[in-house]
Amino acid sequence: MSDAATSGGGQIRIFSGIQPTGSKHLGNLIGAIRLYVEGQERGEAIYCLVDLHAITVDHDPAGLRRQVHDTVAILLAAGIDPQRSLLFRQSDVAEHAYLCWLLANVTSFGELRRMHQFKEKSEQQREFVSAGLFFYPVLQAADILAYQTDEVPVGEDQKQHIEMARTIAERFNSRFGDVFTVPHHRIPEVGARILDLQDPEKKMSTTGGSDQGTVYILDPPDAIARKFKSAVTDSGNEIRRAPDKRGISNLIEILAVARGIAPEDVEGEYASDPGYARFKEDVGSVVTEYLRPIRERYEAIRPDESHLESILGEGAAKARAIGAKTVGTAADRMGLGPGSGAG
Ligand code: ATP
Ligand code: MG
Repeated sequence: MSDAATSGGGQIRIFSGIQPTGSKHLGNLIGAIRLYVEGQERGEAIYCLVDLHAITVDHDPAGLRRQVHDTVAILLAAGIDPQRSLLFRQSDVAEHAYLCWLLANVTSFGELRRMHQFKEKSEQQREFVSAGLFFYPVLQAADILAYQTDEVPVGEDQKQHIEMARTIAERFNSRFGDVFTVPHHRIPEVGARILDLQDPEKKMSTTGGSDQGTVYILDPPDAIARKFKSAVTDSGNEIRRAPDKRGISNLIEILAVARGIAPEDVEGEYASDPGYARFKEDVGSVVTEYLRPIRERYEAIRPDESHLESILGEGAAKARAIGAKTVGTAADRMGLGPGSGAG
């Protein structure tokens, strides 16, 4: 643990990033945003709209700017309080990209080549696979390490990247002296990997899935009902979790989180009353009520873009003040610049 810009008051520091791409979905809410909100009670929380990550795949520049606002409004509507958390746009704090370059030199090509996300996303990008996509985990490590982060709330799909950030921090610290806190991930016990309703072999995804298999946080009630009704299950009729019942297991976890109960309790309730049609309908109506207040608050918050920008601007100024210290120390330790002893 370094003394550089550690979080004050003995509190843990929590950091996570979310991509301002497409429309955010139930997997993002259950796997990550729910933990961001809870993190505000547990420590000093910093959340970043990672637009530099979003440009690693094909994107529309005007759409990206708009989607930063969409995503900030979703986070606020879900319960992020800018009085308690820092909320900022990654590209407003240039130190992230600078630290990424420093960390790239303590990351090996072989390690990056083993990253599952790169394999999956590069297959989706048939025309052009950017070097940025390959570097994604290094930039992510920079995001996390710049803030001396203790804990990173993420969905299960990001576990490997957080492990990578730990490896990078440990390697840097052992080569150049302790600079970075070695972070750990916080993955929810239930709902860590919400699956696509049409293809329960795949995670629900902002960019990779089908519209029908993805429940968006802002979906209207009729779309939510339709998507759950047509969710792919199996040929049985029992409502229980099992490795060969991935579709049903996914629905059980979604229902449990949306109602704030344990998956075992869902199984118990439906044990004497099996049958998928009514179960799927129930999940649809519970999720509709779970998402309704978020959608309503979003509609109130989203139009005021100058308010959203002022939250992002304040967040960026505070984030920069924290991050620049650590990044400066890292550069100095690597022998860059005139050196801290120079007059
Ligand atoms: P993409 O598929 O394009 O990477 P995404 O849906 O994963 O987009 P991100 O912004 O990359 O969205 O992820 C934000 C957070 O949501 C991350 O912590 C990620 O682990 C989590 N997350 C994403 N998809 C799921 C899912 N299906 N279930 C649980 N958590 C998820
Ligand atoms: Mg992702």
